Amino acid sequence: MRIGFGYDVHRLVAGRPLILGGETIPHDRGLDGHSDADALLHAVTDAVLGAAGLGDIGAHFPDTDDAWKDADSTKLLETAMEAVREAGYEIGNVDATVVLERPKLRPHIDEMRAGMARALGCLQEDVSVKATTNEGMGFVGVEDGAAVYAVALLVAGN
Ligand code: MG
Repeated sequence: MRIGFGYDVHRLVAGRPLILGGETIPHDRGLDGHSDADALLHAVTDAVLGAAGLGDIGAHFPDTDDAWKDADSTKLLETAMEAVREAGYEIGNVDATVVLERPKLRPHIDEMRAGMARALGCLQEDVSVKATTNEGMGFVGVEDGAAVYAVALLVAGN
């Protein structure tokens, strides 16, 4: 078994959709970035790449490469998982915490888990997504951005 950790943060801005865990969430602002800025999928991608010892998301999908402009981060996660499988591993489980002041994510969590499980090639019950606020403190608290922490456990594949 191998464990990996991922962290990502994106700025909240007007005029962008809020996309987290592959789901578009109704809100007056969204996350800014070169790709679709899905900080949850980016943190999970970094966690699985890290667990396999395959570097980080920036090495695989550089933001200087126009191929990844406005990219669907589900595709990035699927591509990272192909590399992880080639290295001989499958998902044991993934756990992530999204830190965002607004809106409430609870109504969207199960849809996120289902989509992430499809991209990861595992069961929905092996994907956990949790949400919390930052209690009004710091950059998340003043709604300048969102942060996501994720861990992934990989198991040797067949
Ligand atoms: Mg990112």
